[in-house]
Amino acid sequence: FDASQYAAELQSHWATEGGDASYALLTRAFILANATTSRIKIVDTLVNFLRVLIEGDPSSILPAVWLATNSISPPYEELELGLGGSSISKALKKIYGLNNQGLKTLYDKHGDAGDVAFEAKKRQSFTLVKPKPLRIKGVYQSLKKIATSKGPGSQEIKQRIVEKLLQDARGAEESRYIVRTLVQNLRIGAVKTTMLIALARAVLYSKPVGADFEVRPLHQLARLKKDELAEIYSNAEEIVKASYARHPSYNDLVPCLLEIGPTEELLIRCGLSMHIPLRPMLGSITRDLSEMLTKVQGRDFSCEYKYDGQRAQVHCDEQGKVSIFSRHLELMTEKYPDLVSLVPQIRGEGVSSFILEGEVVAVDRETGDLKPFQVLTNRAKKNVEIGDIKVNVCLFAFDLMYLNGEPLLDRPFRERRELLRSLFVEIPKHFGWVKSIDATSADSESVLEFFKSAIEVKCEGIMVKLLDNVASANTQVNNKLSNETTTTIEQPTKEKPTRRKPLLSTYEPDKRLESWLKVKKDYSTSSETLDLIPIAGWHGQGRKAKWWSPILLAVRNPETGSLEAVTKCMSGFTDKFYQGNKEKYAQGSTNVISRPSYVEYYGEPDVWFEPCEVWETAFADITLSPTYPAAIGLVSDERGLSLRFPRFIKVREDKSIDEATSSDYLALLWRKQMERAGEIKGVGEIG
Ligand code: ATP
Repeated sequence: FDASQYAAELQSHWATEGGDASYALLTRAFILANATTSRIKIVDTLVNFLRVLIEGDPSSILPAVWLATNSISPPYEELELGLGGSSISKALKKIYGLNNQGLKTLYDKHGDAGDVAFEAKKRQSFTLVKPKPLRIKGVYQSLKKIATSKGPGSQEIKQRIVEKLLQDARGAEESRYIVRTLVQNLRIGAVKTTMLIALARAVLYSKPVGADFEVRPLHQLARLKKDELAEIYSNAEEIVKASYARHPSYNDLVPCLLEIGPTEELLIRCGLSMHIPLRPMLGSITRDLSEMLTKVQGRDFSCEYKYDGQRAQVHCDEQGKVSIFSRHLELMTEKYPDLVSLVPQIRGEGVSSFILEGEVVAVDRETGDLKPFQVLTNRAKKNVEIGDIKVNVCLFAFDLMYLNGEPLLDRPFRERRELLRSLFVEIPKHFGWVKSIDATSADSESVLEFFKSAIEVKCEGIMVKLLDNVASANTQVNNKLSNETTTTIEQPTKEKPTRRKPLLSTYEPDKRLESWLKVKKDYSTSSETLDLIPIAGWHGQGRKAKWWSPILLAVRNPETGSLEAVTKCMSGFTDKFYQGNKEKYAQGSTNVISRPSYVEYYGEPDVWFEPCEVWETAFADITLSPTYPAAIGLVSDERGLSLRFPRFIKVREDKSIDEATSSDYLALLWRKQMERAGEIKGVGEIG
C-alpha cells in the first residue's frame, strides 16, 4: 500500500482549485475506507486524506474530522441533528422525483437510506443546471444549521437544508454519503481511535503552514527501521489519544495539534479543563474474589461498594459555576439541581475549583437506604425543579481529579482520596464517600465480609482500586514472590505474553486497566453476561411463526469496525418482546437493511437488522466454533467463538453499539474459561 503515491492521486483528482476542499474529496476517502475492513488501510486512507487537507486547505480539516466521525460536536454540547426518517424520505422523493411506491421499492431492495439515495440519484434524469460542487466546510455548516435551528418554522428550515444538500450532491456516491451522514450512520468503520491515530500520523508527515513543530521529511522516515518508525508512531498516537481522553473535543484538539504537533505540550494546551468532561477511567472485570485477590497480590488496595446508580463527574470553578457530566460525557446539570445546590456546602475551606467523581444513587431521604437503579431512571433528564423532586439522591464520591487549578491525575489514588476526604465536607444522606475498606491480599476474610455487606445493601458488588504506585514496604516480599510466580498479563492479541509491569494507581482517563477491578455479584455465581448487538433474524417456526426467532447476535471488532456474529439467540424473550421486536424490525422499515458489508457471518439469515441496540445476554459457556467468526484470529486462525445456551436478559438502553462487547474481550473471557477448566482438570488429576 503506497501511501505517498496514493496521496498524490487524491490530490490531483479531488482537491479543488482555490483551496476550498470539495466534498468529493471526502467522499473519495469514504469510498476507499468503505471498501476495506482492514483497520490499517482505513487509517492510511484517513492519513492521506488529512495530509491533502493539511497541505492544501487546513481550514477544512476540522469540519472534515467531524464529518468523518459522523458527529457535529462533542457530546456535552448537546447539538443534535434531530432529523426524522420521514424528513429524509420526503427530500429523496422531492429531489429525485420518486413517488411513494418507487421509494418503498428502493428501500425494500437496499434497506440502507444511503444506498437508496445512491440508486435514486443514478436513475435521476439529466438535470440542466449543474449545481456548484459541495464543499467540506459547506456541508458541515449545513449540518450545524440543521442542529441549531430551533422554534417555529425550524422544521421547514431543516427540510430545505436537507433538500439543498441532496440537490447539490454531484454524483450518486456523494448522495449516498450525504444521506448516511444525515441519518448518522456512515458505516466506514472509522471508530474514534482510528481518527485519533490518523490525526497523529498525518502531522508526522505533513506540516501546516506556520506551524510550530518539526516534521521529518518522508525520505528520512522511509529510511528508519520498522521498530523505530513504530515507536515514533506510537509516541505520537499516545499523546493525541491522551489529549482526547482528557479533553474530548476535536474543536480544541485539531487546531492545537496543527499548531504544535503531537508533542507533550499538547497535554498542557489541550488537557484537563474546567467544564470539559474527561473520559472516565474504567474497571476490568474479574471472575470472583479469589481471582481479584490474585491480581492485586502484593499491593495495598481499597475495596469500595459498587453502587447501582449513575456515574457523575462534577466540575466547579472558582466562581462557583457547576457542571455535572454523565459516564458518556453528556451534560446533566439540569437533571441534578439538588446536587448543584449542595456544592457550596461540600466545598471545604481552601477549595476553589475541583473536578470530582462519584455515583449518584436514589435513596430514601428518611433512612438513607439505597434504592435500585430503576428508581433513579424515573427522574426527568431536563428542567428538574428542586421543589418538585420526587426521586431523592445521594452522591457517593470516589475520586478527585482536579483541585484548585491543578490536575491530580498523576497522583497516587491514596493521595487523591486523602485530598477528597479531608477537603470536602460530608452531608449525611446527600453527599459522602463510597463505603470502603483498605486491605491487602492477606485480608481475604475481611474482603469477603465487605463484599457480602455490599450485596446485602443491594450494591452490585465491589470496586477494587490500587492505592499506591508501588508495593508498600510490608508487602514487597510478597510482591517479589508474585512477580516470579504470576508471570503474564493476558493479552487479547496473538502477541507473545509479556511480563507483568507494575501497575500504577494514577487516574487514567478512558483506560480500562487492572488497577481498577470490578467484582460483581453475578460473576461470583459465574453467570457472566455479554452486551451483544442484534444484527439479523430468521422467520420463527410454529408458535413463533409471526416473529423473528432466532436472532443473530454479534460482538464488535474495534480494530476493523466490523460486527462479528457470535450466536443465535431464541431464549429469554417474552411474547410481548417478540412482538415489539417484529414491529421494530418490520420488513420495509428503515431498520431492515440489505446484507451489510461490515458484518462477518457465513450464513444467510432471512432478514438483516440495522445495528442500533445492545442486548445483555447470559450464556452457559464459550465454545470454539467453525460457524461463527467472532474473535477469529484471536484464539484460533480457523475458528471463531460462540456461546452455548444464550439467553436474552434485557435491552441495555444506556449503551450504544460502540460500547457492545468487543471481540478481544470475548477472547479474554474464553481464555479465562479455559484457565478455569485447566484448574479444575488439574485438581482432578492430582486427586
Ligand atoms: P463500564 O462503565 O466499566 O464500561 P458498565 O457500564 O457495564 O461498564 P459496570 O460494569 O456496572 O458498568 O461498572 C462500572 C460502573 O460502576 C462505573 O462506571 C460507575 O458508574 C459504577 N460505580 C459504582 N460504584 C463505583 C465505585 N466505588 N467506583 C467506581 N465506579 C463505581
